[in-house]
Amino acid sequence: MKWIDKNLHIIPINTHIDPYKPVENAIITHGHADHAKPGHKNVLATKETIEIMKIRYGENCAENFQELKLNQKLKINDVSITFYPAGHILGSVQVLAEFKGEKINFTGDYKISKDITCTQFQPVKCHSLVTEATFGLPIFQHPNESFEINKLLKSLQLFPERPHIIGVYALGKAQRVLSLLRQQGYDNEIFIHGSLEKLCNYYQKNEIFLGKVSKVNNTIKKNYNGEIILAPPSAIKNVWSRKFDDPIISQASGWMSIKQRAKQSLVELPLIISDHADWNELTDYIKYTEAENVYVTHGREDAIVHWCTQNKIKALALSLSGRDDETEL
Ligand SMILES: [Zn+2]
Repeated sequence: MKWIDKNLHIIPINTHIDPYKPVENAIITHGHADHAKPGHKNVLATKETIEIMKIRYGENCAENFQELKLNQKLKINDVSITFYPAGHILGSVQVLAEFKGEKINFTGDYKISKDITCTQFQPVKCHSLVTEATFGLPIFQHPNESFEINKLLKSLQLFPERPHIIGVYALGKAQRVLSLLRQQGYDNEIFIHGSLEKLCNYYQKNEIFLGKVSKVNNTIKKNYNGEIILAPPSAIKNVWSRKFDDPIISQASGWMSIKQRAKQSLVELPLIISDHADWNELTDYIKYTEAENVYVTHGREDAIVHWCTQNKIKALALSLSGRDDETEL
């Protein structure tokens, strides 16, 4: 990667991918807070990522925004940039950069399994692959998400007198859980913490069906027994959740496959629903790309690097700072 440095800086066009600090030119793969930061001068991203950044950080969170559609090549001097869907959240992309015949693909965060709240992942061949590895250990084998969502529906049948509070991150996970519930035929009103409202509205505006979703009313006392309530995990731990009488605490996250972690977070009903590739997806995709070099940006880097070496693929961990696998997935 002579023309791209370890900080994902594309040198010939002075452009950074998902920079952690404000820069002159940024390409943003998706709207999660550890990839999209405010304060850049020029931002190149999908229409959805730009709109999500504006919802989260305000209209003026960058000086200039430029949209790029999926599968459309943009030439900047001698470098071509193409976005391919990453299947992670609404608007998320992989970034393929081409310079003097060499193709380098940046996955951003991605998943291959089906998710109707965003465009389906599209595989891309490349010479070098810069990949995430959030769940880059062989123990991570994500189960089918409809199986997981049915655990929640079963619990509602078993405990109709108890509110079910599901911990979800505001961007992507909340909407995916709502969509999965609707896909399973659950058509009751679903309640959300106020901090999820703007992004749920934004998804609905983009014709992603979430059904009837209402904000939890903080002033009027209401009985939420037998209802589903979505809230950020931080709200579940604070005073907000005390208004619910004997709730079942659940959380939807890829990390819920680690029983100890579920226990530590006092999660009674863990749902293993991940928006990241699991071990098999990560390694299958590396093979598919036919990349000769693999660079791992963040996550469980050692195991992926080891697997690549065993498979005679050159690999290096970049250990990018600021990628947070705990706060928002
Ligand atoms: Zn993400």
